[in-house]
Amino acid sequence: MVTQLHPQLAPVFDDVLHRNPGEAEFHQAVFEVLESLGPVVAKRPDYVDAQILNRIVEPERQIIFRVPWIDDQGVVQINRGFRVQFNSALGPYKGGLRFHPSVYLGIIKFLGFEQIFKNSLTGLPIGGGKGGSDFDPKGKSDREIMRFCQSFMTELSSHIGQYTDVPAGDIGVGGRELGYMFGQYKRLTNAYESGVLTGKGLTWGGSQVRKEATGYGTIYFLDEVLRARGESFEGKRVVVSGSGNVAIYAIEKVHQLGGTVIAASDSSGYIVDEQGIDLALLKDIKEVRRARISEYVDARPHASFSSNGSTIWSVPCDIAVPCATQNELDEDDATTLARNGCTLVGEGANMPATQAAARVFAQAGVTFAPGKAVNAGGVATSALEMQQNASRDSWTFEHTDERLAEIMRGVHDLCAETAEEYGRPGDYVAGANIAGFNRVADAMLALGV
Ligand code: GLU
Repeated sequence: MVTQLHPQLAPVFDDVLHRNPGEAEFHQAVFEVLESLGPVVAKRPDYVDAQILNRIVEPERQIIFRVPWIDDQGVVQINRGFRVQFNSALGPYKGGLRFHPSVYLGIIKFLGFEQIFKNSLTGLPIGGGKGGSDFDPKGKSDREIMRFCQSFMTELSSHIGQYTDVPAGDIGVGGRELGYMFGQYKRLTNAYESGVLTGKGLTWGGSQVRKEATGYGTIYFLDEVLRARGESFEGKRVVVSGSGNVAIYAIEKVHQLGGTVIAASDSSGYIVDEQGIDLALLKDIKEVRRARISEYVDARPHASFSSNGSTIWSVPCDIAVPCATQNELDEDDATTLARNGCTLVGEGANMPATQAAARVFAQAGVTFAPGKAVNAGGVATSALEMQQNASRDSWTFEHTDERLAEIMRGVHDLCAETAEEYGRPGDYVAGANIAGFNRVADAMLALGV
């Protein structure tokens, strides 16, 4: 694995450090992409001449706004809202909204930057963007969530539109929050503009499979990796971190394909169930009751719950699928996974493995598939939702799922073929970064400065 930047890329990264002080996650995401692009700049002086690299690391527009709302005690609360419109060379800005106390500009920029390449890999006409707030939905009442979402959309509505920028969900933003935001957008604009948000409910413009898409797509991608090795999920022991939308539907698909997920987690700890995670129970705890994962062991006493000390990555497995959040899997975790015989790691979340962890996997011969390729099924299905909204149509579950599977096969093959073409066979990181970049760079060249 390369650790030095190409001489023409090092100044680009220095500029990013200088222009965006203190934004560690953004620096990390940019470095990880630039590290792969050495062979591209060597081959394409036209990209360098047109300053494509310097342009692509600078968001087209960054919006930061105040979000005032009133809590259940009648006290005025203030949060900060963000929307980073990163790149629109391929289509309207597209990417989720994250509500989490860790959110600041650097997180939104890292996510927006990743989104450019992820969206490009899908082959669909969507640019890259991301937004969110440092609002913490945990412990808030339904009415507080509604008031916050309405206030957030009151400002955001001036900056989005079906041809401009199309937000969706991410951590802390699901169907409920998107409903409150869409309701407010509709009120403010007096227009039923379905295509302005994706991840909508099925009765008001949403798409079948959108809820399942990121998790299902993740496993479709990994199934292709296994197929290329002459293997399948059948009989495999799988560890999936997280218990949000991505993790839950990744677990569901692994089980449908004959594998066994033996561990899952939330921010309070992780559970191990050697008989296989009982998904109906996990869904009830996390989706219906919005409770802690530790409640799992009340109903399944043979399972165990750990809240600290070791991490979920100490559970021996064949395949690891981090689906929680950025930098949740570090160098030590990677070493433990490799030592315990794990041969495949696929990022269901955005950048869950640290750079040091990715290096350990490369050195240990563990296949590592990056989030921008692996988890592209969510945003791809958002693009399918936009298609349905634009044609005032609604597709069946089967048809949408088939389209998703086909798109994920395409993403996998594009990454694998590009890695091969650039002399890095089996390197999904290089394949995803180069293929994702090339499509955007060609569009930027075509559209002029
Ligand atoms: N938040 C998701 C992601 O990280 C989905 C974005 C979307 O559907 O626009 O890709």
